[in-house]
Amino acid sequence: MFADIVVVGGGASGMAAAIGAKEAAPAAEVVITERLDRVGKKILATGNGRCNLGNRDVSAAHYHGSFRSMSSILSRFPAEGLFRPLGVLCTADEQGRMYPRSNAAATVLNALRMRLAELGIKEVCNFDLSTYLRKGDLFELSSDDGQKISCRKIIIAAGGYAAPQYGTDGAVMRMLRDKGYRIEKICPAVAPLRVSPDSVKGLKGVRVKGLVQAYSDGRLIAGEEGEIQFTENSISGICAFNMARYCQEYEGRLEIRLDLAPDMTYDELKKYVHEQRTKRARLELNDLLTGAFAKNLAVYLVKNMIGRPMTDKIATITDTEADKLCGSVKELRFTITGSTPWKSAQVTAGGVHKCCVGEDLGSLLEKGVYLCGELLDMDGDCGGFNLQWAWASGLTAGRNCGASLKGADR
Ligand SMILES: Cc1cc2nc3c(=O)[nH]c(=O)nc-3n(C[C@H](O)[C@H](O)[C@H](O)COP(=O)(O)OP(=O)(O)OC[C@H]3O[C@@H](n4cnc5c(N)ncnc54)[C@H](O)[C@@H]3O)c2cc1C
Repeated sequence: MFADIVVVGGGASGMAAAIGAKEAAPAAEVVITERLDRVGKKILATGNGRCNLGNRDVSAAHYHGSFRSMSSILSRFPAEGLFRPLGVLCTADEQGRMYPRSNAAATVLNALRMRLAELGIKEVCNFDLSTYLRKGDLFELSSDDGQKISCRKIIIAAGGYAAPQYGTDGAVMRMLRDKGYRIEKICPAVAPLRVSPDSVKGLKGVRVKGLVQAYSDGRLIAGEEGEIQFTENSISGICAFNMARYCQEYEGRLEIRLDLAPDMTYDELKKYVHEQRTKRARLELNDLLTGAFAKNLAVYLVKNMIGRPMTDKIATITDTEADKLCGSVKELRFTITGSTPWKSAQVTAGGVHKCCVGEDLGSLLEKGVYLCGELLDMDGDCGGFNLQWAWASGLTAGRNCGASLKGADR
């Protein structure tokens, strides 16, 4: 099989790259190769099935990695600019997070696939790239089961290590490292924070607005406010997800401190607890905080911080116990028990370093190779920033690759 341009990886950035390439070089034969049995499987899982496809904020502030210096790509290709012409209407919430108006990730994938079909871009699924070699003016791509495709240009959009259940296990990144690309240290990002099941016993399913702060050796590393959620062995929610990138760097030394009432000062909380002691004196300790927090969380706090039978009366709470309780509401501490497994991470931090890639996202090591998406050393916060980078970097690589084909070397 021969194609002018082969895009490796049929994810968000690969589909955007293919569209960009074909629009820039309409006569070119553009093919997407995908190791899974269909393209875009991960897109269907994004945003809990709603696909948070971008964010109104396209500034570098929400990004990490060596490609931050190329964040102008994001403003050149905002997500709506790709999707509106495909007929996808978008809405944004108060944090600027953009979703398709249908609230269905399938809308996004269908629109992309319809555009691929309209442009005559072929999808070659079950093609698991194992390597590629330059042969004269062409590249020869080989799959793990012996299939071969020749092409003039390659766009590598094979993602990172996160969520291997959607086809991304880092194999292509390892292949690029063997070819001499500098791979910036990778680690899971946008993921739940693992804690010991005992430390969150009774909290499963609890959701509370609060402040999450990451500390190591007593030093504040990062913090963010938002909705905190508990599972049987983790703390999650967008604000917790954004702390995951520190788990590997500070492994064994990362502590999470939660302020479960950022809207109240310590003194206001204390006043509230003292009021309960007089006004609800005959009720059991079980009910001490139920006017301020959901029942499970209220019981957890009193039980763990006071450590007395919950049937004791509220009137019996001492000043020292009240202080301890208020302290824990303002700063509930959890030790992070380990790095997040790739399976539960949404994003890969790290990847191909900026020093290997030009402003057009063309490789500086191999002429005719372009790279885009999560494969590159650029990860965004949770909130649509990662898909935004995938579309924008995909379109950039695709258009430049297509334009180069039209030029002298075609
Ligand atoms: C559960 C989940 C929810 C998420 N939700 C959001 C969200 O709401 N908003 C947001 O901004 N981001 C979200 N993300 C992150 C976002 O999906 C990714 O950052 C984005 O998809 C990266 O795009 P990509 O094209 O670079 O890589 P991917 O989308 O990972 O695509 C890479 C493709 O390459 C294929 N591939 C890999 N190796 C080979 C090979 N050797 N040969 C051929 N094909 C190969 C893979 O099968 C895959 O289809 C979420 C991620 C997950 C896992």
